Amino acid sequence: MVILSDSIIEIHFPKLNHFWMDAGLFGLYRIAQKEQAKEYGVEITLDDNGVSFKGSEKNVQLFLQKIYDRLLKDYYNTSSQNQIEKNEGFYYDTTKDQFIRFPKVKPMGIAGLVKISGQSYKNQGVVKFEKSIESQKKSQNPILEEKYSFLQDRFEKFLADTKLKPGTALLLNGKNIVTPSIHIEKLSGKSKGRCFICGKESHSLSDIGGTVFPFITGSSGVLSFNNLGGSAEKVCWKCDYIAKFVPVAGFYNVNRDTTTHIYFPYSTSLEKMNDVFRSLDLTKIEDPYLMKNFDNTRLGGYFQKSYEQFFTFLYSLYRVVMTKRTSSSASDEDYELDYEALYNLNLNKAPLDFFVVYTESLGDAQMGKMIWQFHESIYIFRILDHLEKNKIDLKNVMTLLVDHEQPKNESKTILRNRVCENILKKQSVVALVEQHAFRINKSSKTHNIKPLNDFVILYEKAIRQGETGMDQKIIDVAVSVGKTIGMSIAPSGKKGKGDLFRLRKTRKPEDFLNEINRIQMKYGTKVNADLYKEGQKMEENFTEFKQFCMIAALNMYNAGNPSPVETDGKPKAEASS
Ligand SMILES: [Zn+2]
Repeated sequence: MVILSDSIIEIHFPKLNHFWMDAGLFGLYRIAQKEQAKEYGVEITLDDNGVSFKGSEKNVQLFLQKIYDRLLKDYYNTSSQNQIEKNEGFYYDTTKDQFIRFPKVKPMGIAGLVKISGQSYKNQGVVKFEKSIESQKKSQNPILEEKYSFLQDRFEKFLADTKLKPGTALLLNGKNIVTPSIHIEKLSGKSKGRCFICGKESHSLSDIGGTVFPFITGSSGVLSFNNLGGSAEKVCWKCDYIAKFVPVAGFYNVNRDTTTHIYFPYSTSLEKMNDVFRSLDLTKIEDPYLMKNFDNTRLGGYFQKSYEQFFTFLYSLYRVVMTKRTSSSASDEDYELDYEALYNLNLNKAPLDFFVVYTESLGDAQMGKMIWQFHESIYIFRILDHLEKNKIDLKNVMTLLVDHEQPKNESKTILRNRVCENILKKQSVVALVEQHAFRINKSSKTHNIKPLNDFVILYEKAIRQGETGMDQKIIDVAVSVGKTIGMSIAPSGKKGKGDLFRLRKTRKPEDFLNEINRIQMKYGTKVNADLYKEGQKMEENFTEFKQFCMIAALNMYNAGNPSPVETDGKPKAEASS
């Protein structure tokens, strides 16, 4: 037994400037705020250096245990709607002399990544099953250990009535609770060595394991704490403890039970993280199935890959936190960028970044496939605002970027994922969009691409402000030439479309100009004279120039040759003209 002193101590958990550990540190603080520290005589402080708990050693210990219990209840011992409906767990209550059913639990979201071993489950005691093979043969049901043989008949009847599976032992007097072990029996003492994570000396060290950092191995090895099969590194009780709180701070979305996308708000300033937590938390929703904790449906469906998922997350954040109604009487659909929110979230004290983690499950291990830091929150909120102010329906754009012709579901959004990646990185998307627009309008297919056309022009102009390369004026010339061509060939239907595809096939500026001349002769088109005045710039930026031109031309052609019936952007029948 450990004797704790009554003298006042201060336990300091330092900020380590590692996104995972800092998420845990911040999670610890948030959960601590939900409990009554004063009643425990414990004082909590947070500043940019970390979080401190001050009080008698005994009280601090009791309080740390209290907030840990709260964490386990809220984040680790959660039941999905499915588990609640099935109600598959049960135990035998010795006082009431009856079997009690309960929903099984599954750590949700990010807590689900923390590697829980069988030893992490704690219970009030069990009735063991007889091991002898003979007894197993006689009956389908397991035989209860001798002490409880009086219960055997009722146990079998209970299983038969409920059709529940017996498991590996009969629980007694309570549920099985997920309880990864922590080491807070003693909060200070003589040093036994250094912690692998924080580098500080500690009296209490244990083997580092999956409950500290779940990504046991990554393809690159970067995420691994195990040094090539050598002995496991040691971690101090503090790092071991705060790592369990990581799930509190993050956003997540699970795809088909195998991949998990996680976003951690991150700032070099812990105070800043605390300041913005409340507003970021507004983005959280409760999903009864425990598959996500933010609304990822605002831009439509089918979001599955890493960048497109993150884009929907940022959009959700933008709509919930970064916009406000244009006036008090305005509807939900009349909103604008809230510059005060933008300032508070992004600029005040220190910028707010996001750590994006994408993992795939490999049996019972989670492989971290990708971890990266997103620095461009301000840019993304501004560009979203700019696009929406100019009447771009982003949900429509995102829906149009799904490639329904791909046979496999996971391939349907490869292109959209690349477009989202480029947007997040402030890079051009015109090449991707042009390719897609022509693919979905091949031969006799007609797909309205107006939202894509409008989006690409506005987006490309916005990201080129003050940049070198093709400038806004040349984009305007390309679009104008495209429009004129599209309009003049539209009345000729299929024949015109053939000429459009022929123009698209040209690989050199001379051929492109020749083809345009041919179209002018054939259809009496009069293209913008700037095409020739700006010939030099057109040649320098030929590939992109042609892409803008082709999207605009296809858009105008389609306007004159609409698909007979359209629902959800998908033609019910092919255009027949
Ligand atoms: Zn440590």
